Amino acid sequence: MSYLNLTSSPTSKIQFERTNDFMQTLKARVDRYFRMTGQSPRDVPAMYLKTGIVIAAFVALYLLLVFAAATWWQAVLLSVALGLAVTAVGMNIQHDGGHLAYSNRRWVNRLMAAWMDVIGVSSFVWARKHQLHHTYPNLDGHDDDIYFGPVARLSPQQKRRWYHRLQHIYIWPFYTLGIAKFHIDDFVDLARGTIGEHRLLRPRGWDLVQFIAGKVVFFTLALGLPSLFHPFGSVLGCFLLAYATAGVVSSLVNQLAHLVEETAFPDPDHETGKIETPWAIHQVETAVGWARGNRAISWYVGGLNFQIEHHLFPRVCHVHYPKISRIVEKACRKAGIRYQSFPTLWSALRSHYRWLKEMGSPAGTVAA
Ligand SMILES: [Zn+2]
Repeated sequence: MSYLNLTSSPTSKIQFERTNDFMQTLKARVDRYFRMTGQSPRDVPAMYLKTGIVIAAFVALYLLLVFAAATWWQAVLLSVALGLAVTAVGMNIQHDGGHLAYSNRRWVNRLMAAWMDVIGVSSFVWARKHQLHHTYPNLDGHDDDIYFGPVARLSPQQKRRWYHRLQHIYIWPFYTLGIAKFHIDDFVDLARGTIGEHRLLRPRGWDLVQFIAGKVVFFTLALGLPSLFHPFGSVLGCFLLAYATAGVVSSLVNQLAHLVEETAFPDPDHETGKIETPWAIHQVETAVGWARGNRAISWYVGGLNFQIEHHLFPRVCHVHYPKISRIVEKACRKAGIRYQSFPTLWSALRSHYRWLKEMGSPAGTVAA
C-alpha cells in the first residue's frame, strides 16, 4: 500500500489545467541538482542522525517527566518540552515517512510513519487526510486543514457567521486543540466514512490492528503508566499541557504556510470542478515560505517552513529543501509565477492574524 494513495474515491472531482511545462522544468532542474551533487533525495545520513537526536530527546523527556520530576515546576517545564519533542517527532520523522520521503525502502517509511500512532494519531487516517491537503490545498471542502467547523472562517468560500468578526482574537486558544482535533477526527472520519467531500475507506487487516494498537499504546504511555506512579489529576494536567503545546506548534506551522493574506483560495467551476491553473502552479500560489534563513527553525519544523518546496517535491527528504528552494524560487521568477516567502516567523504570524481578521469581517468575502 502506498501511504499517499487514497483508497477512497472523490465524490466530486477537481480538475486542474493540464499544462505541465512548469513542473517538468522544475523536476529536470531538481534532478540535475541531485546528479551534480551526488546526493540522494532519500536515505540521507543527516536525516538518520536527526532521527536519533529527536527520538532520544522524546524518550529522555518522557522518562524524566514520569520518573524524575519531583516538583510542580519541573513537571510543567518537562511537559512543555515533551510537547515540543512530540511535535518534532511528527513534523520531522513521521511526516517524511508518511510521504515516502524518508527512505527508498518501503518498510523504513512505514516504520517512521508509525510514529504518528505512538504520539496518538492514526497514521492511516492522517495519510489519507494529508493526501487530500496535498492534492487540493486551500480548496474548501477538499482540504481538511483549512476547515475549522463553525468555530472560524478560514477561506472565502466558507460561510461567515456574526461571531467570526472576533475570530482573530478568540482563535488562538483553539490552536491548543490542534492535536486533539486529529484524535477526535480519527473516530469521527471513520464513523462518517468521509473526509470533507471525499469517501474514506475504513482500515482493515493490519491497518486496523495498527489503528487499535496505536490508541492502546498511546493512552498507556500518556495516562496509564504515569498513573501508577502519580495521582491521576497530576498526570492529566501534564498530559493536557504537553498536548496543548504540541497543538499550538503544529497548528501554527500549518496555518502560517497556507492561511495568510498572500496565498490563493481558488473557487473551482461549480459545474465542471475545473481550476484554470495547472496543479504545480496551484501548489506555489497556495503556499508560502517563512523564516527560510533561520536554520534552527528550519531544523525544528522539519523544513515545513519551505512549504512550497514540500508541496512540489513531497517525496524528497526535507533536509534538501533549503537548497531546492533556490532552484524553485529562480524558476518561478523566470516563469512569472508569484513565489512568496516571509523573512521571519513574526511577519508570517502578522499576516495570518490579518487574514483571520479579513475573513471574519463583513467585507472579507473577496478571495486573496
Ligand atoms: Zn506534507
